Formats: sequence, C-alpha cells, structure tokens
Amino acid sequence: MTTRVRFAPSPTGMLHIGGARTALFNWLYARHTGGVFVLRIEDTDHARNTQEAVDVIFKGLEWLGLDWDEGPSKGGNHGPYFQSQRREIYQGYVKRLMDSGRAYEDHGAIRFKFPKQVMTVPDLICGSIQIDLTPEPDMTIVRPDGSFIFHLVNVVDDIEMKITHVIRGEDHLSNTPKHLALYEAFGVPPPAFAHIPLILNRDGSKMSKRDAGAAVGEYLDKGFIPEAVRNYLCLLGWSPKDDSEIMPIEEIIRRFDFPQINRHNARFDMDKLQWMNAKYLATMPPERFNALAMPLLEKAGYLAAARAPSGEEMSPYAQKVLSLVKEKVKQLSDVVDMTVFFFKDDHPRDPEAETKTLKKAGASERLAELRSLLEKTEPWTAAQLESQFKQLAAGKGIKTAEYIHPARVAVSGRGIGPSLYHMLEVMGRDCVLRRLEKLKG
Ligand code: GLU
Repeated sequence: MTTRVRFAPSPTGMLHIGGARTALFNWLYARHTGGVFVLRIEDTDHARNTQEAVDVIFKGLEWLGLDWDEGPSKGGNHGPYFQSQRREIYQGYVKRLMDSGRAYEDHGAIRFKFPKQVMTVPDLICGSIQIDLTPEPDMTIVRPDGSFIFHLVNVVDDIEMKITHVIRGEDHLSNTPKHLALYEAFGVPPPAFAHIPLILNRDGSKMSKRDAGAAVGEYLDKGFIPEAVRNYLCLLGWSPKDDSEIMPIEEIIRRFDFPQINRHNARFDMDKLQWMNAKYLATMPPERFNALAMPLLEKAGYLAAARAPSGEEMSPYAQKVLSLVKEKVKQLSDVVDMTVFFFKDDHPRDPEAETKTLKKAGASERLAELRSLLEKTEPWTAAQLESQFKQLAAGKGIKTAEYIHPARVAVSGRGIGPSLYHMLEVMGRDCVLRRLEKLKG
C-alpha cells in the first residue's frame, strides 16, 4: 500500500516553526516510504482566509525544499487542495450521517452523536491512549451559518484523500477520539496516527507565535541557509540515535522512521541552530556562498564603493574578501559588518580596541616601523608578510604580537577579524599604507 500523508495547515498569516516541523516530518516519511505528500489548506475560517496568509505557507515550504505531490490541478502546478473549494463534498458526508441517524439538526446547527464509550487511540509515537467520550456533549459539525467544524472536514478530507498516516502535533491528540468516532460512523477504517511532541522554548515554556524564532519567515529574511534550518528542524523531535547531527537530507530520508521520534517534548535552541547554520555556511562551495553574499554587499553599497575609479570590476576582490570570512560567519547577514573595512576607508572603529592597542606605550613606534617595512615588502603575500613581521619582531627582541595587534586595529578599526596576514594580502599595499599613514597625525 502506498503511504499517503498530508500537511494540513490553517492559514494564520505565518508559518510557525512547529507547523514547518510537522510538514517536514510528513515529507520525510513520504520520501522515506516512496509515498505521496499531500498539501491541504484548511481554510474554512473565512475571516482569516487571505491570499497573503496562504502565500506565507507556500513560500516557507518552498524555501525549506518541501515539495508536495498532489492537488486538484496537479496537471500543471502541483495542487494543493483548499477546503474552501470542497463544500459539496462535506455536504455529502453530512447527509450520510443524517441519513444513518448519526447526526441531527439542533437549532439550525447539525450535531453528531458521540458514541458513549471510552475510545482507544493507537498512536505510533505516544503508544495507546484511552480517552473517555462519555461525558462529551454531541459535537456540532455544521454551524447555523452553514460553515463546517474543523473535526468534520479534517476527517472527511483524510478519508477522501486516502491518507494512511496522520502525522501532526501532539496538541491534536485530544481531538483524535472525536475523529475516530467519525471514522466509525462513516464506516471507514481510520489511518494510523503519529502525534509528534511539541516544541518548547529553551526554558521549557510553550512556544507561542510571538516568541523569537517562531516564524519561518524570520529565518528567510535573516539570511539563514534553508538546508541548515531544515536539518535543525529534523532533530527537533527525531533523533538518528547516534551522534549524527549534520546530515545530508538524503541520509535523513533514509533513516527517518517513527521509532526514532522522541516521546518527550523538544526544546528549541537558537544557539544550536546558529551553530548549525554556521557549519553549513563554512562548508558550502565558495560559489554558492558568494552568490548568497554578493547581493548583501551590493545592498550595503560596498561593491560600488570598492570599484576602482576606472570603473574596473571589483568582484574578484570581493570574492577574496568573502573567502576570508566564510568560515567565521554565523548567519549570512554577518558578512556586511564583518567585511565593511575591506570596502570603506570610513568604516566604524571600536574605541575600546583602539585605546587598548593604539594608545599603548610604544604603539606609534611599532606602527612607524611597520610602515617602512610594508613599503618594501615583496612579494605582497600572506606568507611573506608573516615572515617579515616575525623578522622585525625578532630584530627588536619583542613578541610578534606587539606588531600584529596594532596593525590589525590600525587597518580594520577592530581587535578581531580574519587572519591578519591574509587580510593584509587581500587589502593590498596601497590600502594598508593609506590607513597606517592616516593614523600618524
Ligand atoms: N488545520 C489543522 C492545524 O493546522 C490540522 C490538524 C491536522 O493535521 O490534522 O492544526
């Protein structure tokens, strides 16, 4: 039997990280089993049902690379299903319940008669759970205004779409007995259920819409790498049961299955995500890193500033600059601040670093010595610069650091950055001497 799973978001105006994780787990299971991943927009709440709210979901899923397989217009553009377009189907199912005496009209609404019994929910993750429906009043399935209740349309669509596994957040576990009662009334065997543990904040509180990092759109806007976010989300509730963390998606697809989904809640750890993002940035091919970073440099006005007066193309220079910071960037947007001094003479300066190194006794002598050294350093390469710095220090009987620190602060305005010799090599002699000269005053 082909596995058929679905992601069934209600358009709320954002794609919550928990929703994205639910989509991801469904997608992983579909790909793992060679099955079908259905996207169904549960847009029966007309007040919230806007095109923008739906687009946010599409954009988030596309960004994470979670492609869906099916929908009514699959011929051309891959679906998805919209509940707002399926009223007749729901009406047909309501009629079935009325005809079989399982539903009745009550003050303009239609109510479903609950079986007065304890329902057992078999769950692939939580085990078997028993919930007593006896005290429940009969459930409204159609409101007096003709709109349908979530439970009804959710189950009808899972039947219609032949869903074999319902993988969703644990917050829906308590709804499941109601859903099982509907399956029973329709005479259809229910799908398998897999309720995945919730995502909590790092402090253990429940993650809400407003918490930092809750919306997938934030990651997109901040220049996170989608594969990194996706990899991190895979580990929120699923674990390969060894120490693997950074894994190609093909490997995760191969290893993903229900037994490795944790029963306890997952905690969202932004530091861990940033660490993972940095790893993806550091290890991606330079071409891709450059392609992602260049528009940010362009937007910051650096590329125009760096273009030689002749109009000469500065992009090889920008590429060299990027190669120096690639392994230090945590999130892509860091490149703007990390590279500003490569592109602008009037870059920001860190007063603390300046006081510490440039105002230190002997610092101006050191810089003067460096100026004369760097005027004649040949060839202008990191290796040669390093050996010249070392020789100079040895000649004076002091540590090379006595030259390295002031040189770094003098040319970049800050105390930390890429390897000094490589930085000087890329900046070029003219720029370095110009900046040392400026400090003479
Ligand atoms: N529309 C529901 C939600 O967004 C779907 C629940 C389900 O997956 O069954 O929570």
